[in-house]
Amino acid sequence: MTLKSTEKKLESARRYREEHKESIKKWHQTIGKQREARLRITFKLDVLTHYGNGKLVCVMCGESRLACLSIDHINGNGCQERKKFGGNGYGYKFYRYLKKNDYPKGYQTLCMNCQFCKAFLDKSWNKVHERRKATQCLKMLAGSC
Ligand SMILES: [Zn+2]
Repeated sequence: MTLKSTEKKLESARRYREEHKESIKKWHQTIGKQREARLRITFKLDVLTHYGNGKLVCVMCGESRLACLSIDHINGNGCQERKKFGGNGYGYKFYRYLKKNDYPKGYQTLCMNCQFCKAFLDKSWNKVHERRKATQCLKMLAGSC
């Protein structure tokens, strides 16, 4: 394709957009939004299914209601990653990121109940761990170990 024919096509497209401005706008407000919504749900379903070991379920309890399912960061670094994707719209951008990056490791599909249980158990474990460390320090200071 020559430069001249490319310029002609661009000019033709520009003219078409200008002449059909209203119908293009209407298309984006109806069909465009529907397609975008379909695309978003497709990303979500694909990603949740992949991290649910091939099923659209929570890997801990088997919950299958879509509204309850989410992606869990196995190592608990979700807060840092949310900042990377910038708060609002995190879900869609995040699902798209995971799919386009060929499903990186470190994630799993969990329902929100299992997410809360995991967070609770992690915090409890950390407290026990902190207590053990503090006890060891006290023993070291007392010269008993
Ligand atoms: Zn669950």
